[in-house]
Amino acid sequence: MKLRTRIHVFTTLLMFLILAGLSTGIYFLFEKMTYERQADQLMGRGEELTVELQKTAAEDRDMVIRAYMPPDGALLIVGADGRKITDVESDSRLRGFPAEPDGSGPYTITDVKGVPAVTVAMPFISTGGEVAELRITQLADDIANELATLRLILIGLTAAAMIPVIASSVALGQIVTRPINVLTGTMRENREKGAYEKIDEGRGRDELHEMALAYNDMMDQLGRNYEKQERFVSDASHELKTPITVIESYARLLKRRGFGDRNVADEAVEAILSQSIRMKDLTAQLLDLARSDQAAAYTFKQADIRDIAEETVRPMRQAYGREFSIEGPEKLLAETDPDKLRQLLFILLDNARKYSDGAVRLTLEEKEGLVELAVADHGPGIPEADLPHLFDRFYRVNSDRNRKTGGTGLGLSLAKEIADGLGAEISVESVVGVGTVFRISFPTNRQS
Ligand code: ADP
Repeated sequence: MKLRTRIHVFTTLLMFLILAGLSTGIYFLFEKMTYERQADQLMGRGEELTVELQKTAAEDRDMVIRAYMPPDGALLIVGADGRKITDVESDSRLRGFPAEPDGSGPYTITDVKGVPAVTVAMPFISTGGEVAELRITQLADDIANELATLRLILIGLTAAAMIPVIASSVALGQIVTRPINVLTGTMRENREKGAYEKIDEGRGRDELHEMALAYNDMMDQLGRNYEKQERFVSDASHELKTPITVIESYARLLKRRGFGDRNVADEAVEAILSQSIRMKDLTAQLLDLARSDQAAAYTFKQADIRDIAEETVRPMRQAYGREFSIEGPEKLLAETDPDKLRQLLFILLDNARKYSDGAVRLTLEEKEGLVELAVADHGPGIPEADLPHLFDRFYRVNSDRNRKTGGTGLGLSLAKEIADGLGAEISVESVVGVGTVFRISFPTNRQS
């Protein structure tokens, strides 16, 4: 059964059951109250009659009984031995009545040719001291009519109340299912067209809005991943083309000329080796880039940033015999992914080393809930025009393209991706001829 039909059937049925239950309750309550009222009246009449009969001489009894006889009624006095002492009726339909009380309550209702009759009974002591029972019955035509009218009114009201209930359940079904249908339609279209279309998020702040937001977020993520993947494939094939072509042409040269010409052979092997190393670096960095923004790849924990800085710098000092200084507090606790932060610092420190000759300075600072790290060098600096593109993939400042620094132009774009993953801001300040400072800042506590 469709969700819409289910909502429809469930709300309609539920409301019908509530209304029918209420109407039935009202009907039976009214019926009980009306019969009780009639029985009370008959009891009153009977009690007055018993008092009156005790004062009345035997020959006048019939007259008194007739005076107290209810209209459309019957009256019977039964002796203790079951003998009928008096048996009169004012309506021919009640010949042979009053009925025997069934003892289930203070009054009995009997059906007399489709009309209800109410009978009450009470003890009666005759003037002769004989214990007898007085039974009075009255036909309740008017009550039957009132109940029939009430039944009609209640059925009519229930039916009338069901109209808005049905209308609102149809509307409710539409409100709930329309966004789901739109979502299903968009998903189908996306699958058919291979697109990442989003859906209208609407203005409400309800669960359906939340669902649309979650779906659109998912589409964003899928779209980004797809773009990333495409970019990776095109970047990889574009950047790997040059070294592969170089390797291929030198290999052909070797094949053609053999190893007879020592100079050519040396040049070819040298070129093949350097291009292979370049390809290895490129693929490693491209793979790092492709993985860098997978949220699951980041594991945050409390760590001492000073320790991370020392651990990054120590092997570099040894490997390059250069001066790498660290300034700032001896302990700086913050929440981060230590491995990723180490990777990020390494890229910046390695660039400072590659593009300058003097000392490289790493500064640590804590300011208003933020950790600030700065990597400064006194290298040639970066022209202002290049600064906005520095974090683009494969971007290299022109003068460095020809220099043998062995770069790929991927380091800073990877640094940017890692900084994003860490929730950190990365920025650069540089003055040509003076030096360059790369800054990273991130909150000490991720929740704040
Ligand atoms: P790579 O270093 O592999 O070329 P990067 O993305 O790390 O790639 O850097 C991009 C370019 O930015 C470099 O080619 C270089 O021209 C410039 N650059 C990066 N860091 C510095 C620095 N500290 N000083 C001067 N230039 C730099």
